[in-house]
Amino acid sequence: MKAIYREMCPNCSGRISDERLVSKNPCDECLDNPVHADSYFELVTAVRNALQVKGTLKEWERIYSLEKNLREVESFFERATGFTFWSAQRTWVKRLLKGRSFSIIAPTGMGKSTFGAFMAVWHATRGKKSYIVVPTTPLVIQTVRKIQSIAERAGVEIDLAYYHGNLRKKEKEEMLTKITGGDYDILVTSAQWMARKFDEVLKGRHFDFIFVDDVDAFLKPSR
Ligand SMILES: [Zn+2]
Repeated sequence: MKAIYREMCPNCSGRISDERLVSKNPCDECLDNPVHADSYFELVTAVRNALQVKGTLKEWERIYSLEKNLREVESFFERATGFTFWSAQRTWVKRLLKGRSFSIIAPTGMGKSTFGAFMAVWHATRGKKSYIVVPTTPLVIQTVRKIQSIAERAGVEIDLAYYHGNLRKKEKEEMLTKITGGDYDILVTSAQWMARKFDEVLKGRHFDFIFVDDVDAFLKPSR
């Protein structure tokens, strides 16, 4: 007995047997013989190559490139923080790589803010801009330090801009010029500052990655 599923082949969206689904392979129209491998990434890579040879490579290319990017981000994370991803963090990276917006609901100490700082650094290494919004001035300072130590460990240069009430007058002026000119890789400010300055200095700016720490605190003043 063999079950066939309609529109479920991950490559061609056609009919596929349950056996192929279980073995994480595409349908037998796409690939004559299923591929087996030790790890999921090896499997994904081997299937991709086989599909390419057969000339039936379609959606699988996206699966492959997602897994490949995930591995790149993961190895950069290990280099930058000395830790490996938790499974939750791996799920978050996958969502980001798919270009999704989402909120993280996890208790303190689950590595949310490290994750945000790290992803901003990673985006910077790809020439992309990030904005990290936190609830308070001490958290702006802490986040800036975190980003600096991640960047240092990873051996990358990051152009940081940030703003908080404890800066000296001259620093404030310098930072404002920098922020207004969009002259940075990563911007870190408080939510309050953002709400106040948005129209003046941020409106129309494009960010590739925005990380808002503590959404509750951010949503309450509701702007
Ligand atoms: Zn197929």
